[in-house]
Amino acid sequence: MRGLEDRRILVTGGAQGIGAATAARFIEEGARVMVLDRSAAGLTDIRRSLPKLEAVLMADVSDAEAVRDAFGRLDGLWGGLDVLVNNAGISLRHRFLDISPEEWRRVLATNLDGVFLCAREAARRMAEADSGGVILNMGSTNGIMGYHHYADYNASKAAVIELTKSMALELAPRVRVNCVCPGYILTPMQEAEYTPQMIRAFEAKIPLRRLGRPADVAALFAFLASGDAAFITGHAFVVDGGEITGGLASQRQ
Ligand code: NDP
Repeated sequence: MRGLEDRRILVTGGAQGIGAATAARFIEEGARVMVLDRSAAGLTDIRRSLPKLEAVLMADVSDAEAVRDAFGRLDGLWGGLDVLVNNAGISLRHRFLDISPEEWRRVLATNLDGVFLCAREAARRMAEADSGGVILNMGSTNGIMGYHHYADYNASKAAVIELTKSMALELAPRVRVNCVCPGYILTPMQEAEYTPQMIRAFEAKIPLRRLGRPADVAALFAFLASGDAAFITGHAFVVDGGEITGGLASQRQ
């Protein structure tokens, strides 16, 4: 991809899964990469597996003070950033009727408040920088179509898609803002929730006949962050093997 070399890129939730693959992809592209995550063990592992990572920041993205401190540490190391990949997120599989207010808050706090808090810190820095910047938010096909058993998660991801549009308008022309919406991607998050039988059933209904890999999503992040996407802002991009095109999302799981 063009224009990624030496870019300063922060990936949240980058200790494992899609975030870790995204950090690895940007390193391959010659970028300077830092990862932020709440998992101390995960951060130790990712430092080991990606020795070219410039630094790791431990913070919970839903905690405004912790996010402010983390960006302060980032300033100390880099004096700003060029790209934020706002990836950290959680999901809980439960029926709408069973969702407790605490669970609802937990999902929204990470998936929506966390995106807002990190985006605001990044945007303030990018808006003042000569070179502007790029913010990429993590949505989901769950924010576009209806899915059973994820009402809180679905609502959080729909909100991230809308937040992306508002940010893109207000932050243009210095900062481009887009959203990436993956379908089923096999990561530790999915492995924790699905049985092998469920995974086989998903594979059968996806037109490309497989679950996505974290690298499939990382490739889209790399494109949207690059100079090749210089005229793209305010949109949500789906990477799902054709799943929602076939209207398959609403089948009961
Ligand atoms: P993983 O659970 O594999 O990795 C997420 C990472 O983010 C973990 O290291 C996790 O730490 C960290 N994290 C979670 N909450 C916070 C927080 N509050 N502050 C800081 N770090 C946090 O998830 P995936 O890679 O599967 O998902 C990444 C993103 O992609 C999420 O936003 C998810 O909603 C989205 N997505 C995933 C899809 C999929 O099929 N996998 C499909 C569509 C979207 P810990 O281990 O402590 O939780």
